[in-house]
Amino acid sequence: MFSLMANCCSWFKRWREPVRKVTLVMVGLDNAGKTATAKGIQGEYPEDVAPTVGFSKIDLRQGKFEVTIFDLGGGKRIRGIWKNYYAESYGVIFVVDSSDEERMEETKETMSEVLRHPRISGKPILVLANKQDKEGALGEADVIECLSLEKLVNEHKCLCQIEPCSAVLGYGKKIDKSIKKGLYWLLHIIARDFDALNERIQRDTTEQRALEEQEKRERAERVRKLREEREQREREQAELNGTSSLAELDSEPIIVNPFQPIASVILENERKLEKDKKRHSMEKDSDGCPPKHKTENEQIETQSQISDNSQKNNELGIVENYKEALTQQLENEDDTDQRSSESDNSKKKTKKLRIKRSHRVEPVNTDDSAPKSPTPPPPPPPVGWGTPKVTRLPKLEPLGETRHNGNAKGSVLKYTY
Ligand code: GDP
Repeated sequence: MFSLMANCCSWFKRWREPVRKVTLVMVGLDNAGKTATAKGIQGEYPEDVAPTVGFSKIDLRQGKFEVTIFDLGGGKRIRGIWKNYYAESYGVIFVVDSSDEERMEETKETMSEVLRHPRISGKPILVLANKQDKEGALGEADVIECLSLEKLVNEHKCLCQIEPCSAVLGYGKKIDKSIKKGLYWLLHIIARDFDALNERIQRDTTEQRALEEQEKRERAERVRKLREEREQREREQAELNGTSSLAELDSEPIIVNPFQPIASVILENERKLEKDKKRHSMEKDSDGCPPKHKTENEQIETQSQISDNSQKNNELGIVENYKEALTQQLENEDDTDQRSSESDNSKKKTKKLRIKRSHRVEPVNTDDSAPKSPTPPPPPPPVGWGTPKVTRLPKLEPLGETRHNGNAKGSVLKYTY
């Protein structure tokens, strides 16, 4: 009766216990059988599993425990990540391939490394001596000896249980009883010392998160600095390139294509001649009757005409002087143009032959001071002559000689009346 009451009290106590969330890490060398074990616990068929590359997580409910097991990859290069899970872990499941004697030393070193870690030392550890179904697999005692397990666990104050098992023998409810037993033992130890363990885990987890945050910030800072340095380098490089390209531009001689299209030159000449002819005939037609819209030159011409007509024959003598003055002026203009075009030079090459110039004619200067021109006298003016009109026809230069030298004239002068 007393025992029945005691059992009832114990059951009631357990029933009142809150659900506890427990995290475990499952580690061991690659190919030890971790994934097969995890799957078996979860109730999945454990054979034909691929070795864990990264990590996998399984969740299960065991009595009052909600258990999360991190199945961490055991490859040499991936073992470094194990420590990231130590802080939140309440206990360790270490899987050993008992059939692989050659790797026992490596297994021992790995286990030692795990137990010595400050976030693992003092926590319970379940060692699963797996692959017992395989011929020649080491028994429990041999495994303990090969791993110097007693020494290790004593050194690091870890409560330890070893279970010889075979992960592929069954799964779910039919899972190897040793695995089930080992898991019960681990959870029992955790439950027994849950408060102390929980406090430690909370503390370690907070520290770990702070550390991770700090590492994250440091990483971000490193990335930012690297980016800044790279951008600075790129800016400097761009500036260098910009300067050098400017220097190149400055030093680079301007190359002008010496080949001007002859067709365009001829066309332009013909157009000009045509225009001149028209204007000439119009002048003849509208002698004394100027058109409504006149150009500036034409207006000047007209004014000159009126002026000339009023002076009649008296001015015939002036014509010679005028022609000379005009010739001189045009020559001067030509020189000036030549000089200015030379000063502009380099940039504005004479791509087009100059055909038309501003025909602004200054009032006739009858002063004797007008220099005499060596230009041969033009033909006598026709009856009812107007103000001399100057038409400059482009000189058709040979291709490749579009550049003028200092004295050469780029055009010939032709006077029309
Ligand atoms: P992990 O790398 O530690 O996760 O190892 P796996 O669970 O992937 O198992 C590696 C190989 O061992 C797989 O081919 C499994 O089928 C096999 N294996 C796992 N446990 C046992 C076992 O108990 N007995 C036998 N014979 N093979 C097993």
